[in-house]
Amino acid sequence: MEEITLLKTLLESPKKIVITSHRNPDGDAVGSSLALAGWLRLKGHQCDILLPSEFPDFLSWMTGADEVFVHDLDAKSCIEKVENAEIIFCLDFNALERIDRLGEEVKKTSVTKVMIDHHLNPSDFAQINYCDTTASSTCELIFRLIDQEFGEREMINQVIGESILTGILTDTGSFKYATSSRLLRIVADLLDLGIDDSKLQDLIFNAQSVKHLRLLGHCLKNRMEVFPEYKTGIIYLSKKDYEEFEIQRGDTEGIVNFMLKVKDITMAVFVTEQPTIVKLSMRSKRSFSVEEICKKYFKGGGHKNASGGYSYQSLNGTINKIKEILPEFKEKLLSA
Ligand code: 5GP
Ligand code: MN
Repeated sequence: MEEITLLKTLLESPKKIVITSHRNPDGDAVGSSLALAGWLRLKGHQCDILLPSEFPDFLSWMTGADEVFVHDLDAKSCIEKVENAEIIFCLDFNALERIDRLGEEVKKTSVTKVMIDHHLNPSDFAQINYCDTTASSTCELIFRLIDQEFGEREMINQVIGESILTGILTDTGSFKYATSSRLLRIVADLLDLGIDDSKLQDLIFNAQSVKHLRLLGHCLKNRMEVFPEYKTGIIYLSKKDYEEFEIQRGDTEGIVNFMLKVKDITMAVFVTEQPTIVKLSMRSKRSFSVEEICKKYFKGGGHKNASGGYSYQSLNGTINKIKEILPEFKEKLLSA
C-alpha cells in the first residue's frame, strides 16, 4: 500500500500518538511538532510531543510549547509515552541517534513510525516516510501533508499556521536559503489564512538580549580566524567563554552565519566546547557541501549548505583537524 494511504488508514480511528524531534530543537523542530500535534488533535487523536533536550528561550512564546515533554528533564514520562504510543512521528531528523536515549526507546517499539524530514541521506527505520530533501523545512512538509495529501487546509488554524511559518522562517533565515516558488506559494496561502508574518518575524528575530549581542561582538573580534587561501572562516568558543558570558541554550544561534557575510568566504565553521563533546556547526555558499565534511570527519550531516557534527577531541584538537582537512577541499572551496 502506498505509504500515505497507509497513514490515512491508520489515522481513521483515534490513536495515542507520540511526536518527537531532534536534540537541541530549533524553530523547525518545535514548529513542525506543534503544528502536527495541533492538526492531529483536531482530528481526534491524543498527542504528546517528546524532545531529547530543551528548546531555546526565543521559542517559548509558541502556543503549546509549555506542554512539551523533555527527556533530559523527565525521562520517566517520556519512556512511558513511547511505550504506550500507537504511532510515533519522527520530525526534522532522519536517524534515531539524533534523539539520543529517546531513540533507543523508539527502536524497541514495534508500532508504526512515520518520518517527516528534509535532511540528506535518510536511514530506514520508519515504515512511512514523507521526506523531501528539496523542501525548505519540515514545516513546509507538514503544510503539504495537511493540504495536499489530506486536503484539509481548512483545519490550519491560527496556532497551526503560526507554528508552520515559524519553522519556515527559521530554517530559511527569513527566506534567504532553500526557498522555491513552491515554498512562497505555501507562505502566501498561510498569509491568506490570516497568519501575521511581521508579528512572527519580530518574536523570532528581535528577541536577543544585550548579553547576546556582546557575545557576538566577542566572537567576531576575538574568536574568529579567517583563512583567505581556503575561503574559510572559523569561530570558536571555549568552556571558559561559556562561563564568562554566561552562555545559555540558544545564545549562540545564528553566530555562524555572520562569517558568510564576508564577500569571499565559501565556508563558515563554528566550533564550541561543550561539557563532554566539541560541537561543530557549518555553513557554506553555492555548490560547496559542508554535509560531505560533517559526514566524513565529524560523525554528522544535515544539508549541503548547513550541517553539523561533533568530535571527542579537545577544542584545539578539533580546530587543528579542521585546518588539516582544508587542503583536501581547497579546489572545491575556491571554485564553488
Ligand atoms: P546547526 O548547525 O544549526 O546546529 O545544524 C545545521 C543542520 O545540521 C541542521 O539541519 C541539523 O539537523 C544538522 N545537524 C546539526 N548537528 C548534527 C549532528 O550532530 N548530526 C547530524 N546528522 N546532523 C546534525
Ligand atoms: Mn529543519
